[in-house]
Amino acid sequence: MSRPLTATISLSALRHNYLLANRLHGGRVLAIVKANAYGHGAVRCAQALEDLADGFGVAAIEEALQLREAGIKKPILLLEGWFEASELALIDQYDLWTALHSEAQIADIEAAELSRPLTIWAKIDTGMHRLGLQPAAFKAAYDRMQASGKVGKVIAMTHFARADELDVEATSQAASLFQAAIDGLGLETSLCNSGAILGWPTTHGGWGRAGIMLYGGVGTDRVLPDWPLPVMALDSQLIAIRELSRGEAIGYGARFVTEQATRMGVVACGYADGYPRIVPTGTPVLINGRRSRILGRVSMDMLVVDLSEHPEAVVGTAVRLWGEGLPASEIAAAAGTIDYELFCNVKRARLIYQA
Ligand SMILES: *Cc1c(COP(=O)(O)O)cnc(C)c1O
Repeated sequence: MSRPLTATISLSALRHNYLLANRLHGGRVLAIVKANAYGHGAVRCAQALEDLADGFGVAAIEEALQLREAGIKKPILLLEGWFEASELALIDQYDLWTALHSEAQIADIEAAELSRPLTIWAKIDTGMHRLGLQPAAFKAAYDRMQASGKVGKVIAMTHFARADELDVEATSQAASLFQAAIDGLGLETSLCNSGAILGWPTTHGGWGRAGIMLYGGVGTDRVLPDWPLPVMALDSQLIAIRELSRGEAIGYGARFVTEQATRMGVVACGYADGYPRIVPTGTPVLINGRRSRILGRVSMDMLVVDLSEHPEAVVGTAVRLWGEGLPASEIAAAAGTIDYELFCNVKRARLIYQA
């Protein structure tokens, strides 16, 4: 038998979540499948969404070409644009859309030889302060793009730094700055990531860019009338069971010592699979669908769970690390991170796709 760790991806939940994003946002929505669809498998996810999605978003040209080579015909946007001017030839050849975030990139366009007009998503920095044209310089940049004769459609885009927080003004301020920068140009727009699609209806319109919510995350503990469904279930099994007496240590560094006679089980999942090593004793798992807790340190290939209240558990019993019934965001919180990172880190697990 092979190692029992599996990541089961529900394609129907993925489709449900895309439709939810589309319904909440209105207009059109790109499905963001960068970083191998946040660990869910970019090609399979894009194929499952192709008839629904208005297009896809990726971080780099390699990711875009992988989708084109798999037969994806819908528009694909490079969210960070190009890193070297030579990529413009591939952008042209594979008919990709690209972000543009600097004046230097406008010079690249002026110098490029292209077979058709580029579709440019011009990124405006409204407060994240990573990539983007300055709001005050946007109109001049836009004129320069038009004057190049090589740009067809321009979509004005910005990316919010704090859309997952509902009680701060940053998002509405960023949206106002954005509207002022493009005032009078009559451009199509794109503002919303998942946080804004779920929580900031005043910023909806144009093109949404849904990432984590497609994969069942909300990036926040807000209460929503419509909740995205979990897409990934990370499951393994008990591979050994021990009865320890009081005062026995478990795992590396003896970080947990039994306080009473304890029945414990070993699970085939560790940090080399992407499960966070940093989580403390007490972090939840589901054993046969019922909660239990991790004991001691997570090691590379294994972790240990408490079976004191699971007398029915035997070698081979199912253990869920996250998925339906145990949100990845809960494990992420125990690790001081976000579910985005947990999903992206999953490796070595066998990926199984369910219709
Ligand atoms: C990754 C990314 C998104 C998706 O963000 P989520 O929070 O996962 O919805 C949207 N826009 C840009 C520019 C991105 O890089």
